[in-house]
Amino acid sequence: MEPHSRNIESEDTIAALATASGVGAIAVIRISGKDAIPVTQKIFKGKDLATAASHTIHFGTIRDGDKILDEVVVSLFKGPNSFTREDVIEISCHGSEYIVKQLLQLLIRNGVRLAKPGEFTKRAFLNGRFDLAQAEAIADLIYSETEAAHQAAMNQMRGGFSLEIKKLREQLINFASLIELELDFSEEDVEFADRSQLKSLIYEIKRVIDHLISSFDVGNVIKNGVPTVIAGKPNAGKSTLLNVLLNEERAIVSEIPGTTRDFIEDEMVLEGIRFRFIDTAGLRDSSDKIESIGIERTKQKMKQASLIIYLFDVNSTSEKELKENLLELKSYNIPLVVVGNKIDKDKSNIIEFRNFDGIIFISAAMKVGIEELKNNLVEMVNFANFKTGNVIVTNVRHYESLIKSRDALKAALEALDDGISGELLAQDIRSSLIYLGEITGEITTDDLLGNIFSKFCIGK
Ligand code: GDP
Repeated sequence: MEPHSRNIESEDTIAALATASGVGAIAVIRISGKDAIPVTQKIFKGKDLATAASHTIHFGTIRDGDKILDEVVVSLFKGPNSFTREDVIEISCHGSEYIVKQLLQLLIRNGVRLAKPGEFTKRAFLNGRFDLAQAEAIADLIYSETEAAHQAAMNQMRGGFSLEIKKLREQLINFASLIELELDFSEEDVEFADRSQLKSLIYEIKRVIDHLISSFDVGNVIKNGVPTVIAGKPNAGKSTLLNVLLNEERAIVSEIPGTTRDFIEDEMVLEGIRFRFIDTAGLRDSSDKIESIGIERTKQKMKQASLIIYLFDVNSTSEKELKENLLELKSYNIPLVVVGNKIDKDKSNIIEFRNFDGIIFISAAMKVGIEELKNNLVEMVNFANFKTGNVIVTNVRHYESLIKSRDALKAALEALDDGISGELLAQDIRSSLIYLGEITGEITTDDLLGNIFSKFCIGK
């Protein structure tokens, strides 16, 4: 891939802590830029790095004057065979906050500056290491917490999504150049670009873009989880169920030695899909229960959900009441899982609800039927798209660019139907190209880049 551009900032040599801050076995400080090797050499007593081969590691000491700061291992990557395509050094030191701070200060005193958030990745992008969508996928990869999110980010980082966009752009560029050619010969009233071929090409491209746009629903779920609401009358057993669902998972995780990570409140991961229970404050704190499940509030939170679990007590709910509630719930047009609870009390009651399809019967208190419920929740999330390994849009910026690109194509189609001049048609095509180009970074502005990379963490 060709380098995108060069700017003054990237003349600096930059450094940052690449590992998480805090105490650890080791910490890695990354340095990139034209002075990375000579600056490191000034403070490193060990092998001569300038003459050492790329992709080698070297044990030695870091010295501040006569004082030894730490024993370290230095990894050497000579540009362009490095992450940023510049000379890159990674110093693995002991994971002490004091050492890291001293080491960074030592580097700064020798002419290196601290990297801004995402600056290493930005340099890699500017030097043509990968395109913008792939750079963003790196951030997603770091933040991915579930199998599905990891898979989607990995696909994107390896270029799946970029390839698709690239193909579309190439087709459009061919098409645009024919129209532009016509404009050059406008006096002669020629048509190089066959209008009906053009039209079917736009239709085809639009179809692919539409498909990508619709994949965002799944993409969003993968990245942000499925906002799920547990609804039902007071005492139906909602908080009991929530705790059963959440605790089971916690129990599994905490059985793995060394997993002391904090749990994210009210989330569970099933088969790689993250379910985010929303507005559960009232369910967790029982003293607040009556107030928090007021009708209006319930309606409000249901609208934010992508999945509703409706829970009722099989022992105290009439068929008529259930029918009415389901009618209302279905009017939200949000996937709904209907669950009859407390079957441990008196099993004969279940018979009453035979007329209803798809009810899952459980006992939250006795943990009966929970597996079936979980399987059902997973099935409710439409993952057909994902499972087939199709390209999925997970990034809201890409999604917005795709929408704009599609709108421009729509305008082009209308222009074709109305027999409007080649000039306007060319303009629509050009806009569509620009929006597609923004996704992969063929077309960028400083604002756009600043915005994207500032969301990365420092050291990435
Ligand atoms: P919420 O108001 O919907 O959150 O309901 P709770 O989870 O607080 O449950 C209300 C009462 O029903 C509590 O006393 C629970 O112990 C009880 N309960 C919940 N699930 C079951 C169940 O499956 N069987 C029985 N017998 N009692 C249950």
